[in-house]
Parts: sequence; C-alpha cells; structure tokens
Amino acid sequence: MSGKGLINQISSQLNRKCAVIYCSAKKVDGQYKTVVRQREAVKACKILGVKYIYFLNNCDIKYESANNISVSSQKISTICNEIWGLLTEKNFKSPYILISYDKNGGYGHPDHKFVNLIGNKIIEKHGVNVKLVEVTINRTLINNWLKKSELRLPAKSLPQLSYWSKTFGLSENEIKYYYPLSDKQLSLKKIALKAHKTQTAEDSFPLSLSEVDFKIVFGHEYIYIPLRNIEILIYPTKETAIDQPFGLDNTKHPIRKDFYTIFDNKHSGVDFPVAVGSKVYCSYSGVVVRREFHKGMGNVIGIRNGNIVFLYAHLDKFKVKLGQIVKQGELVALSGKSGAACPTAHLHFELRDITKSTLKEMIFEPKFNQKFKNHKDTFTYTVNNTNTEKSLASLSKLYFGIEKYWSLIRNNNLSLTNYKKFQTLPNATVVIIPNFVVEK
Ligand SMILES: [Zn+2]
Repeated sequence: MSGKGLINQISSQLNRKCAVIYCSAKKVDGQYKTVVRQREAVKACKILGVKYIYFLNNCDIKYESANNISVSSQKISTICNEIWGLLTEKNFKSPYILISYDKNGGYGHPDHKFVNLIGNKIIEKHGVNVKLVEVTINRTLINNWLKKSELRLPAKSLPQLSYWSKTFGLSENEIKYYYPLSDKQLSLKKIALKAHKTQTAEDSFPLSLSEVDFKIVFGHEYIYIPLRNIEILIYPTKETAIDQPFGLDNTKHPIRKDFYTIFDNKHSGVDFPVAVGSKVYCSYSGVVVRREFHKGMGNVIGIRNGNIVFLYAHLDKFKVKLGQIVKQGELVALSGKSGAACPTAHLHFELRDITKSTLKEMIFEPKFNQKFKNHKDTFTYTVNNTNTEKSLASLSKLYFGIEKYWSLIRNNNLSLTNYKKFQTLPNATVVIIPNFVVEK
C-alpha cells in the first residue's frame, strides 16, 4: 500500500467519488453549535481530500432531547434507507464500499456501535452491491504502547478507556488489513483533527501526544472486513452428489474426450446427475453474460461476478435473460441433456477466471461451501481490436450480457469520459471492468 489514508486509498483505487456521511452534533438550543460542528467537519474533510459530505440530521447521544434524536435512538431502517438512497443517487452509480466502525464502536462509543449496526443492516439487504469495511483500533498495539509509554506520558494524556478489554477495538490477529500512512498523510490527519476543535481540543488525547507517539498510535489505519461480505459458493441443484468430478480424465471416453481438448481431455467442471427438468439455482450472484446454444455444452448460461464466470450447461430451459442480475439461490434454469457432450441427463457446472488469457488457464475447480480465494470485484481489460473493434457498447455486451451498461463502464474510467457508446476504443487502452450493480 502506498501510504495514503483509507478514504483516499479507496477513492483513488476504485476511481470513485467519495462521500462522508456525517452525523451532526446538535444541542437543544444549540443551532450555533450545530453550525460550528458542521463547518469544522467540512473543513476536516477538505483537508483529507473528501469530495462530498452529507449530514444525517442526528445529534450526538449526549445531546439527546425531545427535539433532537441521536443515531442510537433512531429507527435503523430509516437511517439505512436514507444512506442507501444517497448512495444510489445519480452521483454515486456504483456504491462499492461502506466504511463503518467495528462492532465495539472503536473505543466503545454507543453511537459508533450503532454505525456498525447500520453498516451491517445495509449489507444484509443490499450485500450483492456493496461491501462493508469496518475501521478499527489495534488493541494489541495500543496495549503494548501504553505499557512502554505510561511512565513518560503525563497522566491526562492517557485515554480514560478500557483499552485492554475485549470491548476496545480488535486484537492484532483479528485485523485483516492495515494501511501505513505517509508522513504527509499523517500530518494532514493531525491538521484535520485540529480543524475539528470543538471535538478535539489542543490538550485532548491525540493532540497532546509527541510526534513519535502520534505516529505509533495513528500511523496506520486498521480495517476488518466482515465475513458476510463474501458469499460462499452454494450447490446449483438440490442434488449435491457429484458423479463426474473436476479434472476427471476423459481420454478414453468416446463422447466426452472430443469436447475437453481445451483442458487436456480432462473434465473442466463438475457434473450433477439430475433428471431433465430439475431446478437449477444460482450458485453465486452475478449478471447473466451468456445465454446460448453451444455445440458441446448445449443450452448454456454464464453468470459473471467480478472476474469469475459461472457456467451452467446442458440445460433444458432458460429462466433468466441476458443482462439480468441474479441473486444467489434464485432459479436460473431447468436442467436437461442438450449438447453433444452429454451422454445422459446432467448439469455441468464450470468456473472460469476471465482475467486469465487462455481457456485452459481460466478453468478452476469449484469448491462448494467455501469462499473464493481468487475473486476480484473489478479487473482490467486491455483493448485489442485485432478481431473485432471494441467500443463501450461491445464491452458492455461482453461483460454484462447487453449493451445497456456501456455508461457504467465509462463512469468507472475517467480516461473514457468523452467516448460515445459505439466509438472504437484505441488499441491498448486499459479499461476497468466494474462489477454488476443492482438497480433500485
Ligand atoms: Zn461435465
């Protein structure tokens, strides 16, 4: 990682606008206070390079009154809907990442814990389209630092918190990722803290630390990614027994061998022995990019999620259309025995990592009830016009099944802002291919 802050990192890596949803602090008769707090937040955000800031109309739990409700007291669904509405507005076409506090609300603030709850609720409802990242505090580091520094720090500098307990941040081995900050970013962070002066006074814990201690405590940003963000691969049929396993040698099989030449005559997927007309369910959410008759595979459906395409072959009937977004567990087809490589009725299920260059390299073994190790939300495609000329429309057809998503691809590529739907893209242009987006 290049030593940028988390917000900058996410915003620049994914080529996206970045919004901060900020709960304003209000007092009963405190219009003035609200204005000051909001002004400070805007200032701090500008320092950190944030493009948008949006204020949820809530107060801090300690200022709560009949007229002012804190996030902790408000109905979760109301806030979730408000945030989701904002993210799916025109300006934020592809909401990918929500950042919340960890389950302990960082240092235990009740409003922060509620923010965690809200993030998780949004994921529960819209998880196909948005990921949750929880910002946390490295409890192990803080404890080790306090043990060493307690003697040389003035007592008032120490946080009056149960920093040793399991309700404070997360331990180092629970934390998945961290972002080291450059000196420049760290100093910006300090300036942003100072800009927020009704919240962070000069003699407060962070600002009274020495340069060395400030770097130890705030020099890295730690994040935790909840497991439920990542789907596990589920079986596509009620039948979970596989009669033709992945990689099975078909060299001697009279029918199959001719169709598995791309994979050294080995079986490129797994077969479920199901009767014609059995229901086939979506193993992993995605967008339908293929729906056609193939000589060997018969009626086949391809569903893409990020860099992985899920193929369902030898089908009898399709139940989804090209470009349709399908959630895990939804009915996608009825199984059959179509295609020449199908001696008896069965469902052939196959996975391909489309960032690889040859079919042989693309194919990999489906492992059910597990997460993917090689899944990527976004990947890049380098334009090659040798066989067919590529345009935003043709790339949309390729990666989203229909031309309709051409502008979604354009919106994810600043360099393509001025390209029209059918305009040929220059050879060697690197195009970011976004994941599918669930529409409202
Ligand atoms: Zn098969």
